[in-house]
Amino acid sequence: MDTASNDPAELAQALEASLREAESLRAELEETNRGVLALYAELDQQAEQLREATELKSRFLAYMSHEFRTPINSIRSIARLLADRVDGPLTEEQERQVGFIQSTATEFAEMVDDLLDLAKVEAGRVEISPAWFEMVDLFSALRGMFKPVLTNPDLTLVFEEPHGVPRLYTDDRKLSQILRNFVSNALKFTPRGEVRVCATCEGDVVTFTVADTGIGIAPEFHEAIFEDFAQVQSPIQKRLRGTGLGLALSRRLAILLGGNVAVQSEPGKGSVFSLTIPVRLQAAAGADG
Ligand code: ADP
Repeated sequence: MDTASNDPAELAQALEASLREAESLRAELEETNRGVLALYAELDQQAEQLREATELKSRFLAYMSHEFRTPINSIRSIARLLADRVDGPLTEEQERQVGFIQSTATEFAEMVDDLLDLAKVEAGRVEISPAWFEMVDLFSALRGMFKPVLTNPDLTLVFEEPHGVPRLYTDDRKLSQILRNFVSNALKFTPRGEVRVCATCEGDVVTFTVADTGIGIAPEFHEAIFEDFAQVQSPIQKRLRGTGLGLALSRRLAILLGGNVAVQSEPGKGSVFSLTIPVRLQAAAGADG
């Protein structure tokens, strides 16, 4: 039973009070709304500025890398001419110095290539061209690529037969780029033992692993090595070439292929770098097998 007064004057008063309260609530709400809208606008503006800054950075990197290529290629060609003794004989010391120019120029060229690739990925300008292919073919191409650089007699490189891995529909060049980077790192950081490349399939996902018996990586660096320019300082690192961009690029490429990369490693025991991607790239759903 309603206990409120039945007096019309009191009722009118109460109604008026409620209306006033509702009005002040509405005003408060409107003010809050305006505040939220202003915040949204500010956020939008900041997002736009961030997008512009990223675009500018990518464009700068792309221009810079592109402009660097011509002079680097000239240096490499001239060094090759000198090394081939086209302009006459070299002393032992000159040969050593020309070799130094060649390896430094190669390192520089690799860094520029990696930078350009990274800039392209960031600017969303990397084209993914998926196609159907057999893993055995990719493994044998990789085996052929690494044969000439396997000069350490204490180290073997094994590509396991990819049993049970179906034909893949993905960008084989990007996949090859990621695996090449894993394998060349493994070879660099493994003074003796083995580097083993495997592919296994589970459901509609395929996992590639590159396992080495090398120097390994301390747990605190497992995340950092996938960042741009990250390198773990070690005595072996000082003697080696590298840019610290390979894994950053590999991770971005893996994401473009719908997958990701990971590492398991223990210092002194070795590392296992893995790449997991879908057997069939999503964008290709409906493509004819
Ligand atoms: P780069 O090899 O050009 O230095 P990466 O981005 O490919 O650059 O690798 C980053 C760093 O991660 C390497 O410099 C090295 O310190 C570490 N790293 C990568 N792979 C291995 C590996 N298989 N064993 C030990 N350390 C590794």
